[in-house]
Amino acid sequence: MIDVAVVGAGISGLSVAWHLSKKGFSVQVFEKEEKAGGNIQTTRRDGYILELGPQTILADGKVEEFLKSVSIEPEYASESSKIRYIYKKGKLISLPLSPLSFFTSPLLSLSGKFRVLKEPMVPASVKTEESIAEFVRRRLGKEFLDYIVAPFVSGVYAGDPEKLSVKYAVRKVYQLEQKYGSLIKGAIKLKAFGPGGRLISFKGGNHTLIEHLASSLKIQKENVVLRIRKKEDRFVLDTKDGKFEAKSVVVSAPATSAGYLLRDISWSASEEFDRIYYAPVVVVHVAVKKGSIPPGFGFLVPRVENKRILGTLFSSQIFNGRAPEDRELLTVYLGGATDPDIVDYEDDSIYSIVEKELKEILKLESIEFLGITRWKRGIPQYTLGYGKYIELAQSLERETPGLYLSGNYLYGVSVADCIRASYEVSKRVEDYLART
Ligand SMILES: Cc1cc2nc3c(=O)[nH]c(=O)nc-3n(C[C@H](O)[C@H](O)[C@H](O)COP(=O)(O)OP(=O)(O)OC[C@H]3O[C@@H](n4cnc5c(N)ncnc54)[C@H](O)[C@@H]3O)c2cc1C
Repeated sequence: MIDVAVVGAGISGLSVAWHLSKKGFSVQVFEKEEKAGGNIQTTRRDGYILELGPQTILADGKVEEFLKSVSIEPEYASESSKIRYIYKKGKLISLPLSPLSFFTSPLLSLSGKFRVLKEPMVPASVKTEESIAEFVRRRLGKEFLDYIVAPFVSGVYAGDPEKLSVKYAVRKVYQLEQKYGSLIKGAIKLKAFGPGGRLISFKGGNHTLIEHLASSLKIQKENVVLRIRKKEDRFVLDTKDGKFEAKSVVVSAPATSAGYLLRDISWSASEEFDRIYYAPVVVVHVAVKKGSIPPGFGFLVPRVENKRILGTLFSSQIFNGRAPEDRELLTVYLGGATDPDIVDYEDDSIYSIVEKELKEILKLESIEFLGITRWKRGIPQYTLGYGKYIELAQSLERETPGLYLSGNYLYGVSVADCIRASYEVSKRVEDYLART
């Protein structure tokens, strides 16, 4: 019998599996698809490196520590990718890089800027939970919400700020108010105006990290886990290729799959996890002539500008070698919680929306399409009341010793969040195995 069975070879499952096998435990990973990586998928074609899922990873100390311990060199984002744009009334406006340049930027009106200055005087909320939109309107004003926060909520969550919980979706921001009574005061105290890490990827794209992790792990690909049961001191996994027994199990599949697998252990968790909403995301890769776009990371489009494009990354300007010499690679995002139906549109309809809007926003004459990727269940939305799912996962772990849950629906949606969580999840598994 193996020590640990890990269900799902996304970054959450692989990073937990990696820590545990490094500690000497026998670990078997099960992945239903033919390729590991989950959302992290890269394809190489005609001189382009296309990221179908995440493009950049915000690496803080813990992530850097992880990469060092797995012996993989990150590729850092270019200096020019610090420039980011917001689309406003027909123009791309660069996002202020310092609090000072914020006051000279045309991004907000004078009254919008004064409203931001009042933030330290706004009392902390007494409400138990607020949406991101309510929170930002209250503390910083509507303009700041529309032109700065909402576009970032699209960029990270493909989410709707009216529905996401400030407490669960942007925990650090919520804690600044709780601890310091003001975001500005808190940020000054913590010297936390920057992004809090460096943006990275890997040579050849993000899937290089997956291949690197996978090469030292035992993974059964194209072997879906259908059911998990607890039998006395062990877990029995029914998989497409037969039964497996393990002393402990880490379920790192998305919420719906996790709930389904665990239906014999907890019917109520199974039902509840199925309710977690994942916003769909459409990713369109586009090539344009070199020299036809401004330098920078890319742009975000506030919803109030009435466009379908949520944002576009200038991928070949962020990392080297992503496009042939004479071309730039753009990655365009559409859909999300505020425009979910687009995921079911035909390719041609999506292409014509992207063509019309990109030409208008970037003043381009021609563009070439390289492909579309649809994520029907893209990014989990930490909506109001989300705490109940986290408590459910915790109580499931408490009531079923040896069972652990991980994944982007529990500890944060970014790749960095998944990597950081892997330290704690693997520690809990290790402690359990040491006790049995
Ligand atoms: C379009 C898009 C863009 C994104 N951009 C960024 C970005 O730029 N930066 C960033 O930090 N994050 C980004 N994210 C978020 C980030 O990529 C994900 O949150 C993260 O990769 C999720 O990893 P995970 O392992 O938790 O889940 P997943 O990647 O979903 O992995 C779960 C795995 O479990 C497998 N599985 C499911 N059920 C079973 C079963 N029954 N048996 C066996 N295997 C099973 C699945 O096939 C999958 O491989 C993006 C996400 C999307 C969709």
